[in-house]
Amino acid sequence: MFDLTGKVAVVTGASRGIGRAISEMLARQGALVALTDVLGDAVGQAAHEVVASGGKAEGYAMDVTDTAGVQATIGKILERHSRVDILVNNAGIVRDNVALRLKREDWDVVLNVNLSGTFTCSQAVLRAMMRQRGGRIINISSVVGQMGNAGQSNYAASKAGIIGFSKSLARELAVRGITVNVVAPGLIDTDMTRGLPESVRNEWASKVPIGRLGTADDVASAVCFLATDEASYISGQVLAVNGAMYT
Ligand code: NAP
Repeated sequence: MFDLTGKVAVVTGASRGIGRAISEMLARQGALVALTDVLGDAVGQAAHEVVASGGKAEGYAMDVTDTAGVQATIGKILERHSRVDILVNNAGIVRDNVALRLKREDWDVVLNVNLSGTFTCSQAVLRAMMRQRGGRIINISSVVGQMGNAGQSNYAASKAGIIGFSKSLARELAVRGITVNVVAPGLIDTDMTRGLPESVRNEWASKVPIGRLGTADDVASAVCFLATDEASYISGQVLAVNGAMYT
């Protein structure tokens, strides 16, 4: 498909789900992928499996809420490879409840991981990308950030925030050859949605005009496209991968 040979990519929340699929697909296109995640063992194993299937990959423990840790890990990757061409801010969590009953700590942690984590990791690669005069930042939002969802005001706010952040960053970095885009998945079959009650999953699935849940690979394909040289004139955009659930 597209050739990412020679590119160095960093993916957050990469040990499972969508982040794992993105890492595997970037590696299949030829990129060297630094898989990062909170748990070092899990991400080390994921990286090992990418290498076993013929890709170039390394695993790093990195919690996106730990600013010093993010800077140290990105520093290590830069020391080793001298560049970061692609950053995929994928790490994300949910802590659902109706706003009336939402605990302050559940508001804070969702905003911290999803939105502030995206800022922290982006800032950590910016100097290198500016020096390289090029780069791709791809942030994973959600259909919920575009349309809202009862019981997910914290998650929706974090995902809508990612869109505003990305559009601003795209304008700041355009002259440096760095593009910043958003991929907004709909209902994707991963652990995150497998945790929903069957009735909720079925109700959501019935609202998808394409007639099925998305796969992690559906999202990964969109990310990989935005990571290529061919996507160099696309920036500040939101690419929805939602089976026409929200248009
Ligand atoms: P997932 O299966 O729950 O995986 C999320 C990954 O993020 C896990 O590996 C998790 O690590 C990691 N993570 C959590 N907190 C972190 C932190 N502080 N620092 C670094 N990594 C952290 O979720 P997913 O479904 O693949 O979702 C991936 C992204 O897509 C998220 O941003 C999510 O909001 C977005 N999204 C998903 C859907 C969907 O339907 N699944 C729809 C729209 C958007 P642990 O394994 O240690 O928990």
